[in-house]
Amino acid sequence: MMEFLSLLKKDDIEGKTCLLRVDFNVSGDLSSNPRLVKILPTIKFLLEKNAKIVILSHLGRPKHGERAVSKNISLKFAAEFLENKLKKKIDFIDHFDFYKIGEKIKSFSASSIFLLENLRLIDGEDGNDAKLARKLASLGDFYVNDAFSVSHRKNASVVAITKFLPSYAGLLMESEIKYLSAAMHNPKKPLVIILGGAKISDKLGLIKNFLNKADYFLVGGGIANTFMAAQDLPMGDSLYEKDMLPSAKKFLKSGKIVLPSDVIIDERKILDIGLKTIKKYSDLIEKAKMIIWNGPVGYFEDERFAKGSKAIAKAVLNSKARAIIGGGETTLLFKNIKNKKRKTNLFLSTGGGAMLEFLGGKKLAGIEALAYNKLKI
Ligand code: ADP
Ligand code: MG
Repeated sequence: MMEFLSLLKKDDIEGKTCLLRVDFNVSGDLSSNPRLVKILPTIKFLLEKNAKIVILSHLGRPKHGERAVSKNISLKFAAEFLENKLKKKIDFIDHFDFYKIGEKIKSFSASSIFLLENLRLIDGEDGNDAKLARKLASLGDFYVNDAFSVSHRKNASVVAITKFLPSYAGLLMESEIKYLSAAMHNPKKPLVIILGGAKISDKLGLIKNFLNKADYFLVGGGIANTFMAAQDLPMGDSLYEKDMLPSAKKFLKSGKIVLPSDVIIDERKILDIGLKTIKKYSDLIEKAKMIIWNGPVGYFEDERFAKGSKAIAKAVLNSKARAIIGGGETTLLFKNIKNKKRKTNLFLSTGGGAMLEFLGGKKLAGIEALAYNKLKI
């Protein structure tokens, strides 16, 4: 049975030390990044109950043995972000001498917050190493996984650590599971799924799992290209996946895959959906009761080909449907859109790959590990 942090009382955790796994693997504008912002309620929850907090995260992909703490592999920025938001000192620990770290944590008072340097700078995090997990576990009394977006990865601070400590799903993890499970098991109809991005192969599981449940799949990006190629339309130099053509043909038979009726082409490449398609997709979005969206519908890094994705984001914001949006790129689209009435039933998932695996019906290693943990606080 999975245990939830939200059910713990002050008496349970007062004076205890929480190892809080988060996902601070972010870049760009931090202040509106959901992975950073959405972790704040969990930290406040723990502070109110007088727990000490040791925050764990990874960042980027440091090369093997890389030790020099350069700016783009250091989590220092996250300590500054948290200090700013919480108006509280964050003790950033830039080494992995676990004995020293343990002594330091003990010497601090309740409600202190520590942030450990990028866990990928230690051997064993990636390999789900039990020895590393045990060392990490020695720093605290209980463990909270609030890193839904890395829960599909077998990492020491996500999976192995649950063998050594009472383990809980954090508030953010709980909301991810709640919203995504509802979409899986109890979708409101009509359910419209919008799929874009580069590759079908990433989204195969989701398409399969929802082929019976969804009413329409509105496709764009490289995914739409692959579907169009499966209908023998000329693709020029457009991005599409040759080895996915048989799957694409099979899915088309469902009659639920809605293809673009016009596209924007530049240098022999299809790079965005056209105006007719925007209108067609927006009409279906307006009628939806539930929307799931992953992946931009065009090559939106170039302003000229961002119109389709922006228009779809607007249509989603204007609809009355519950909308679940995931993927780093896709959630970014909701940052800059000026909309007077901000949609209330909009859930921005922090998971890209994790959300796709979850909605594809896969078991996520980090979530399974929480469910199997039997240690009690
Ligand atoms: P997300 O990060 O939201 O999950 P993906 O990683 O699946 O989305 O895909 C995003 C990428 O897909 C973007 O870099 C975007 O430029 C690219 N893309 C979308 N449409 C096209 C297209 N028509 N041609 C080439 N690349 C595209
Ligand atoms: Mg991406």
